[in-house]
Amino acid sequence: VVRAENSPVPDYVPDSKFYKVEAILRPWRVPHVSSALLKIGIRGVTVSDVRGFGAQGGSSERQAGSEFSEDNFLAKVKMEIVVSKDQVESVIEKIIEEARTGEIGDGKIFLLPVSDIIRVRTGERGEKAERMTGGQADIISVGSN
Ligand code: ATP
Ligand code: GLN
Repeated sequence: VVRAENSPVPDYVPDSKFYKVEAILRPWRVPHVSSALLKIGIRGVTVSDVRGFGAQGGSSERQAGSEFSEDNFLAKVKMEIVVSKDQVESVIEKIIEEARTGEIGDGKIFLLPVSDIIRVRTGERGEKAERMTGGQADIISVGSN
């Protein structure tokens, strides 16, 4: 993967201050992923139950197990995590580490630039809205003191 010098994201990714990491994962791996993310200070995560098909398609191998759906779509979980640019790679790494089984159907991760973040409670925007108490930025700045 080619990266512009010092850039934490590959060079074909549009530059942004914030990104959304969107991961479509096996439902039963999600608890592992979310607790690992919490440990690295990722405290804002949104999950949805979704259904889809990919290479795993509607193959019948797991139809007796937890990934069964009534039609050709398999049950998956979508995790959406908005982070600052410098935290993107740590989030992607953790997701792969915790979600991977090596079998077809482990899922996919999409990376999207996010233009702005607004905290509804305070009206804060941008970096102020993105930061969370006890978040990775806090942990890292405490750790390096
Ligand atoms: P507040 O300090 O007002 O509580 P907050 O930043 O902690 O603000 P919440 O209002 O607790 O945000 O967040 C509401 C929901 O928004 C969360 O349950 C989660 O689904 C989603 N969310 C918050 N931050 C993020 C994030 N960085 N990435 C993805 N989802 C997020
Ligand atoms: N980047 C935020 C922080 O370091 C955490 C973002 C998140 O938890 N999704 O405080």
